[in-house]
Amino acid sequence: MAHAVKALFPEAKLAIGPATEDGFYYDFDLDRTFSPEDLHLIEEKMSEIVRQNTPFVKKVVSRQEAIDFFERSGEPYKVELLREIPDEEVSLYEEGGFVDLCRGPHIRSTGQIVAFKLLSVAGAYWRGNEKNRMLQRIYGTSFPDKKALSDYLAYLEEVKKRDHRKLGKDLDLFSTSDEIGAGLVIWHPNGALIRRAIEDFWLREHHRAGYKILYTPHIAKLNLWATSGHLDFYRENMYSPMEIEGVDYEIKPMNCPFHIHVYKHTLRSYKELPMRFAELGTVYRYERSGVLHGLLRVRGFTQDDAHIFCREDQIEDEILAVLDFTLFVLKTFGFERYDIHLSTRPEKYVGTLEHWESATNALKRALEIKGLSFDVDPGEGVFYGPKIDIKVKDSLNRPWQCSTIQVDFNNPERFALDYRGSDGNEHRPIMIHRALMGSLERFFGILIEHYAGAFPVWLAPVQVKILTIAERHADYAMHLLRTIAGHDIRVEADIENEKIGYKIRHATMMKVPYLVIIGDKEVSDRSVTVRKRSGENIGPLSIDEFVGVVKEKIDKKSLEL
Ligand code: ZN
Repeated sequence: MAHAVKALFPEAKLAIGPATEDGFYYDFDLDRTFSPEDLHLIEEKMSEIVRQNTPFVKKVVSRQEAIDFFERSGEPYKVELLREIPDEEVSLYEEGGFVDLCRGPHIRSTGQIVAFKLLSVAGAYWRGNEKNRMLQRIYGTSFPDKKALSDYLAYLEEVKKRDHRKLGKDLDLFSTSDEIGAGLVIWHPNGALIRRAIEDFWLREHHRAGYKILYTPHIAKLNLWATSGHLDFYRENMYSPMEIEGVDYEIKPMNCPFHIHVYKHTLRSYKELPMRFAELGTVYRYERSGVLHGLLRVRGFTQDDAHIFCREDQIEDEILAVLDFTLFVLKTFGFERYDIHLSTRPEKYVGTLEHWESATNALKRALEIKGLSFDVDPGEGVFYGPKIDIKVKDSLNRPWQCSTIQVDFNNPERFALDYRGSDGNEHRPIMIHRALMGSLERFFGILIEHYAGAFPVWLAPVQVKILTIAERHADYAMHLLRTIAGHDIRVEADIENEKIGYKIRHATMMKVPYLVIIGDKEVSDRSVTVRKRSGENIGPLSIDEFVGVVKEKIDKKSLEL
């Protein structure tokens, strides 16, 4: 590609051009902006170079020779890179008269390239630094055969269609705005209804699983974060403190210290353990504006957080219960494939080796008992304890980090937690941090993409939409609306004087699971005819029958219509 660009635009300066996980890119410095037509021309030139089947020839030269060469060729970015390479010798690759600095290896000749496509152009600062010059980055991809390329392009189309930022706008679910502040999410009514359904489910299941629910403040004295250790190891993710009557306060990056406070509130006995505190706790973390991305990377988000305080002999049972709980919750949302990672003791750690070993074994045993396959990431644990991370695979098989279960030896020590044991002595409890969905914002983003906005009935903001064919059907439609709403089903009616085709198109675009279409026949029979989101029709049904169908789907949290 770089050869083709130089052939077409000799004044373009070459910066860097690495391979990436799913393709490649190259950064160019050029005064004109690459247009889609330019990309097309570049592709044609690339095809020409491929047809010529010219060999790639490697040449090892001294660094100074390379610098001289690129200086003569008018490539200042290459010269800058070379000046920082410590090696005495570097390799150049030459192909059809085009020379580039490259470590290699390369294919033998351009004829080996079978299928490729240039995908997009984006601005990119030289060396990723916003103080430097903005370059143009051309992205492309290549595959060993045409079928694999067309499959990949179809996959990219699907990814684009499912983009939660686009669907979030189309379905009026949420927004972020510069006026409010980047990375701060506003949940619109439709998104808020979904969040409410998730939270109701979360609450009920936590009650059932023996958790106590907490609410805690959004700010606290900065000193609290010194005790917890966050000021030492997490400061770059925290915002600047604010002053209240001469004392520094901090907006919370974590919920843990508050839950610890509840534990510490009175003297605890071994009989009270395990204690499980859960909270939908909103935290704020500093992320650079460049990395913010829709709902997936934000500055304020709500964790489905919980902390379990237990005795050492209870770790395994607790981990097992958390694991069961996690998989149940994920399955309810339609996620049944996972990548699971067990991260073990890093080089820098707190706690005793004995503790680490018993906790790591407990995590491992729990995974084995559940028959879950997992990868061990040696040394990847947090300094305060080992952890299990679960990445769910979505409908496009993309992994997303959601759930985490972390054992913590640090906080009980720092906050001097204890309990009175059966032996009458004071003991230190173990603390487990866990989040099932991770953050509600991020999880919502993943759900939107997983379902492409067509949510299961229990989550759909509008579950049933009543559409009238003519104005004379409005009375029956309103009667239906009241009846269905009386069963706690989220229902709306469209009795506007519009063509039924238009009404159906609009409701279909909004991905409403059930459309109830009312005409003369339905009014005279007191029945309903239902069109599912999938396009399948059911009915005529009596109103009760239809309500029964919808209620069952909601109650069972069915993923099918
Ligand atoms: Zn925590």
